[in-house]
Amino acid sequence: MTLSQGRPYLAIPGPSVVPDRVLGAMHRAAPNIYEGDLIEMTAGIARDLRAVARTEGEVAMYAANGHGAWEAALANTLAPGDKVLALATGRFGEGWAQMAEGLGLEVELLDFGKRAAVDPDRLREALRADRGGRIRAVLVTHVDTASSVRNDVALLRRVLDETAHGALLMADCIASLACDRFEMDAWGVDVMVAGSQKGLMVPPGMAFVFFNARAAAARARLPRVSRYWDWAPRAAPEHFYQYFGGTAPTHHLFGLRAALDMIAEEGLEHVLARHATLARAIWAACTRWGAGGPLELNIADPGLRSHAVTALRIGAPHGERLRRWMAEEAGVTLGIGLGMAEPGTPEAGGFFRIGHMGHVNAHMVLGLLASLEAGMRALSIPFAAGGAAAAAEVVARPAETAGAETAQRSTA
Ligand SMILES: *Cc1c(COP(=O)(O)O)cnc(C)c1O
Repeated sequence: MTLSQGRPYLAIPGPSVVPDRVLGAMHRAAPNIYEGDLIEMTAGIARDLRAVARTEGEVAMYAANGHGAWEAALANTLAPGDKVLALATGRFGEGWAQMAEGLGLEVELLDFGKRAAVDPDRLREALRADRGGRIRAVLVTHVDTASSVRNDVALLRRVLDETAHGALLMADCIASLACDRFEMDAWGVDVMVAGSQKGLMVPPGMAFVFFNARAAAARARLPRVSRYWDWAPRAAPEHFYQYFGGTAPTHHLFGLRAALDMIAEEGLEHVLARHATLARAIWAACTRWGAGGPLELNIADPGLRSHAVTALRIGAPHGERLRRWMAEEAGVTLGIGLGMAEPGTPEAGGFFRIGHMGHVNAHMVLGLLASLEAGMRALSIPFAAGGAAAAAEVVARPAETAGAETAQRSTA
């Protein structure tokens, strides 16, 4: 017997759960791409995306995944031989750096490991050492989905300003947009990349590059930009086909329209608060369980944890067994550990991740957590009882428990 039949929960950090309303909006015959709804709708999508990114800047849209957005950001601002400083706090930071190498850029990689945020002092040192001003861009992952660390992007901007360094600040918000607070303009971010399949609740296949006037000026100075990746016509199209450099991802656009409506109806601040509370419920459960067993949150400081994804360590083979049990017995698919150990080795089975981004509510998270507790029980993995109850306490009293956690942090 298995208890997995019922509505499944794909609790991996992207692609995330697609709301029925988004699926419904996508379920239609191929639309006219010359006139009608699609054409009328698209400018509004760009406008609403910019509101979610908290920017008055521009947005270019691509029929691509996050890797496409990575490449687009670099291809519009840098030429082969230009130098970038890549700040890695997990597998995704490394991935963007590799993308830069592939474009013939010179990459200086500052690696902060898998369990820590960017250290502003090391950034300051690297910028000060760059006397000739060769570093043209600093790449940072807002939330690294592999480690689940959340970097303080505003703080990194201040370091750039203090050192009077002119490099562009580029942020990867593919995991975090519409989950963790991000203020592109207020935080002085020049370029930001995002994708459709995480906090934006749409299937993978659309990518977004937001850019400000400084980044547009860098684009204007380049001798050439790949015609396909060029953000200029996409951000200010004279003809509809220029939005996507070809045929638009028609059905994704209808899905995205519905998703942006959902975000607007809930209110971005409420969306962020929901993610924050549900994340705290997950942390409360995991902290409690870990007091009597091998489970451990990858990021120790709650102030550095993402509200979109939680990376956990539990030791091999517990992680792999638990993931399997959850899928087979409870209908919940958890994320694999990423970048923590060599894939395919036994050690890799000691990690897992919970995706809690986008269309996720209290009963999904509480159900997931109670199932995890059942799984650890079933597999005889030691844990301190009471994790699911600790999560319920957070959900029942979000305001009070938020205060308790801040108090805990300041005394820690
Ligand atoms: C998912 C993700 C990516 C990669 O996106 P793809 O759509 O898989 O190419 C890059 N960076 C971060 C932070 C992500 O979460």
